[in-house]
Amino acid sequence: MVMASFDELIPISYLRQYLFCPRIPWYKAVMRFEPPEQGWVTQGKRWHESQNPRHRRRLCKHIPQPREHIVNAHVQALSLGIHGYIDELIFNEEKCVVVEYKVDKGKPTDAQKVQLYAYMLAAEQTYQRQVVAGVLLKGSANKQYTITLDDKIKDKCLTTLHAVRQTLSSHRMPHSSATESKCAQCEYLRYCNDR
Ligand code: SF4
Repeated sequence: MVMASFDELIPISYLRQYLFCPRIPWYKAVMRFEPPEQGWVTQGKRWHESQNPRHRRRLCKHIPQPREHIVNAHVQALSLGIHGYIDELIFNEEKCVVVEYKVDKGKPTDAQKVQLYAYMLAAEQTYQRQVVAGVLLKGSANKQYTITLDDKIKDKCLTTLHAVRQTLSSHRMPHSSATESKCAQCEYLRYCNDR
């Protein structure tokens, strides 16, 4: 398996963004566009911060004491060439749980599962512990989903990673089939002159 240097690592968040619209990781990595942060993004960050202490007790059922938490835990999987920051990692000497906060209230999407799967792989490699659960806390955080990661998500994760690499290696703006409703909420809309 080819090992990547740190400079070549792909941010895991690109996988979810690619599945939303392939142009987003391309704008970020190839064009280096940095649109001003939109209100809902700022709101989402504040929400993450506020939810963090509230749910630790519920999440700890997966990991016996003594356990620790890290917020914004950096993880990387050099064998896959990916890295990222997990919202919260709970761990003891042998096991860990990956926790992601999502502002939306719906059931977990495939894109969110793909991102979570990549974080779990990277956490296992970085912390050398068994990942016993991946958890999505959604909406007002009353919704807690423990994700079962099956072969379908694994295949989708690897296929998406390959597609992201292909897209980032090209100077041609990728085609997008994003719907009007997606574009309406997209912070990169100003750069898409065909929309
Ligand atoms: S505005 Fe639409 S086409 Fe352009 S990057 Fe955003 S989602 Fe994709």
